[in-house]
Amino acid sequence: MYARIIVDITHEKLDRTFEYRVPEELADQLSVGTEVWIPFGSANKERKGYIVGFSGSCEYDPGKVKDILRISEEGTGLEARLVALAAWMKEHYGGTMIQALKTVLPVKKRTGIRRKRYIRRLVSASEGEQLLEEFLHKNQKARARLMAALLDDEVIDWELLTRKLNITASVIQALEKREILKIQTEQVYRNPLEGKKVCQEEKQVSYTPEQEEAIRIFRQEYEHGIRKTYLIYGITGSGKTEVYMEMIRQVVRSGRQAIVLIPEIALTYQTVMRFYQKFGDRVSIMNSRLSDGERYDQMERARKGELDVMIGPRSALFTPFPNLGLIVIDEEHESSYKSEQIPRFHARETAGKRAELEGASVVLGSATPSLEARYRAELGEYTMFTLKNRAGAGNLPRVYVADLREELKNGNRSILSDRLRQLIEDRLKKHEQIMLFLNRRGYSGFLACRSCGYVVKCPHCDVSLAAHRNGILKCHYCGYEQREIKVCPECGSSHITGFRAGTQQIEDIVAKEFPEARVLRMDLDTTREKDGHEKILAAFANEEADILIGTQMIVKGHDFPNVTLVGVLAADLSLYAGDFRSGERTFQLLVQAAGRAGRGQKPGEVVIQTYSPEHYCIVTAAKQDYDSFYEEEMRYRSLMGYPPAEHLLAVLLTGEDDELVGKGSHYLAEYAILMERRREEAAGEEQECRSIEIIGPASPYVGKVGDIYRRVIYMKSEQEAALIWLKDRMEQYIEINSGYQKIRVQFDFNPMNGF
Ligand code: ADP
Ligand code: ZN
Ligand code: ZN
Repeated sequence: MYARIIVDITHEKLDRTFEYRVPEELADQLSVGTEVWIPFGSANKERKGYIVGFSGSCEYDPGKVKDILRISEEGTGLEARLVALAAWMKEHYGGTMIQALKTVLPVKKRTGIRRKRYIRRLVSASEGEQLLEEFLHKNQKARARLMAALLDDEVIDWELLTRKLNITASVIQALEKREILKIQTEQVYRNPLEGKKVCQEEKQVSYTPEQEEAIRIFRQEYEHGIRKTYLIYGITGSGKTEVYMEMIRQVVRSGRQAIVLIPEIALTYQTVMRFYQKFGDRVSIMNSRLSDGERYDQMERARKGELDVMIGPRSALFTPFPNLGLIVIDEEHESSYKSEQIPRFHARETAGKRAELEGASVVLGSATPSLEARYRAELGEYTMFTLKNRAGAGNLPRVYVADLREELKNGNRSILSDRLRQLIEDRLKKHEQIMLFLNRRGYSGFLACRSCGYVVKCPHCDVSLAAHRNGILKCHYCGYEQREIKVCPECGSSHITGFRAGTQQIEDIVAKEFPEARVLRMDLDTTREKDGHEKILAAFANEEADILIGTQMIVKGHDFPNVTLVGVLAADLSLYAGDFRSGERTFQLLVQAAGRAGRGQKPGEVVIQTYSPEHYCIVTAAKQDYDSFYEEEMRYRSLMGYPPAEHLLAVLLTGEDDELVGKGSHYLAEYAILMERRREEAAGEEQECRSIEIIGPASPYVGKVGDIYRRVIYMKSEQEAALIWLKDRMEQYIEINSGYQKIRVQFDFNPMNGF
């Protein structure tokens, strides 16, 4: 038995592994991630290394392979824990150990180390006074200024002297030569929050009874050494963030650190400042705007114990805190917590694993918890806290559903229902603001009947079929296809079409109908320039516009107290997006969008326009009734065997040669079916064995992107372990078959966005 070991955990060297023999007496004590001592190099110097894999044979000359010496005593160090986390990720999400390690270990950048220079006075104060006299007497003004400054402060910043006091380096050096002062340098890590002013005094809040309860239980359990996952299900504005901060304070007080994950888009100045007020310089942030060097510096500050709290998106999960006590995931339902790169890990699940390795707790928060999290709470794996009431200002808005089929019947073919048009007029008169929201996210070009709301769905998968250019309707999961239809099979209407409206067209329509209104538009086009996002939001916050039109990016994380009307133009766009999460995503978006209205003192109203007013997602969203939504949605997932009721593995194959990708996916599916049959036969009558259903290969919605062709195979099972087993078999099959050299194969467990 041989082990592959990495010796140097720096980013550039991760690819370099060394082979060592596993001595028999250690064989059953070693696993991936174990920290071991090995003889290294020609001098056999003892070094520490981390096991990243095992094999029965070795590529190196077996006569020259050395033995692992022993397991490192302090084998539970931070590095070992991160390597073990990487191993878990490789196992659960596919890909190589190197890819997993590169995700988990911070990028080391040698460039851009910054130093800070100081000047320190060496002479006593009275000697200094004499020197000052001397310089003044000789009319050496710069030296006198420097000496006077050093008499006020023994240590002064170099920058301050040279910039503000206008003292040149040669003057400082001249005094250094006479041993009047000393120049000192020190390496500094960049702090992205440096110089940020804390504007207000920290608000003293007295917690609501619901907040109190969550905080109390968390504190009790934490103090008793109980580590687990909590789910805070609390409506927007119920004070979740206050609760996180109090929990973090307790953890920090016990000498441990906390990571707070926030979707990048919600990582706003406001949020960061709330944390900064509470934790001061001991908090730092990570976001995509930081340079590699700055990101690395934040990691180093965390490792060195300079920080207690790290706030950031998904990647901040791997902050190398020496003594991690808590991981908070705000808006845990967000799809951005799922990585789109190999390994395609989910931050929620990976946080659970990291917390387990580190002895930390996890707190998830959302106004619309993911089905996964809510389901785990139901199973008793998570403890759920419910915050039903708003803590600060504002009441929940009043929601209207506008039936677009009725509008059509009444001769209104416009994109605005009568109700929405009237309310817009009303708000313009009152000088209150309006947000119009088009949720195109995941929009797949489904067909719907505008007279009765009928949507063409796959008979096998119960998701909507997507219209392809050649007049064919296709299912993304199983590949089922049928011809496009021209007449509605339900009501015979010929108004059966796709939706084509974009934000640009809506802007034109609104401008025509309300020529006096000042309109801003926010979508991918208008936010392309740097900070485009912030600029538009800032202009709207300053009330430079009456109406903000946008895609889902406008519904997240911003408070506009003067917004009292939100219009959702076509809720169906995301409802029939053709994947099993469409309903969940629609519910979340509608609740979030509704939450934008009435954040200030004035009450808010919301209009949801739809062709499917009786759909449970729309009905429950209009009532902001999460529990009913959850029950209905869970029933659908169970019936169809979708997550979280069952586990789903998507295998995506891509390549430049369509025929090759087609063949490769066909053979891989065949092989998977064969393996599955063998697995079931081997299990025989064993009760524990649940079958795996293999679906496809099919062409995903975007069958070809650029010049890359794609196929996807889905595998479903009640048993996660069975899917992981099958994934391992497929990875081996791909590795030994030369046919796959020109095909890229990716595994995605419980995909978030479909392919
Ligand atoms: P969430 O994270 O659930 O959206 P926040 O924690 O941001 O809620 O709270 C919403 C607003 O209510 C914030 O302005 C916050 O300062 C305020 N707030 C939270 N808890 C309380 C409280 N117990 N008393 C008064 N105001 C509170
Ligand atoms: Zn119809
Ligand atoms: Zn199907």
